[in-house]
Amino acid sequence: MADEHLSELYQEIILGHNRRPKNEGKLDPSDGMAEGYNPLCGDEVAVYFRRGGEGELAEVSFSGEGCAISRASASIMTTAVKGKSADEVAAVIANVLGMLTAKEEPEVELARWGDLAALVGVRRFPARIKCATLAWHALEEAIEKSGGAAGNRG
Ligand code: ZN
Repeated sequence: MADEHLSELYQEIILGHNRRPKNEGKLDPSDGMAEGYNPLCGDEVAVYFRRGGEGELAEVSFSGEGCAISRASASIMTTAVKGKSADEVAAVIANVLGMLTAKEEPEVELARWGDLAALVGVRRFPARIKCATLAWHALEEAIEKSGGAAGNRG
């Protein structure tokens, strides 16, 4: 696929999530929440989750105001981690943050990564990377605050 077409596809995915975000809204009560603020762009995000019986992130949501990239990133994140075990979620977070901030352009398999691949496309706009990482750092913090990856498992 030509580079240009890939960029257009990524842009469509980002704009689609911004227009119709998944899992937007507060969870109350929640088992964990954290807020993030990106002063470079003015993005604000709050991330919430509830654990299921196995400690998995049974429900994940976000709220806040921000640019299309920050909102799309939060929306894509909720769909990517919802229902996953705490260990799986930690791996997804590490992967995405790693790919967004790695020095080398990462190889992203669109088929395997789905909408997450569009986030990695934000690498082309270095000034916007903090917009894309905001929700992920907030989720990481929310999990840490609630007792880490193991959570209240067992
Ligand atoms: Zn932004």
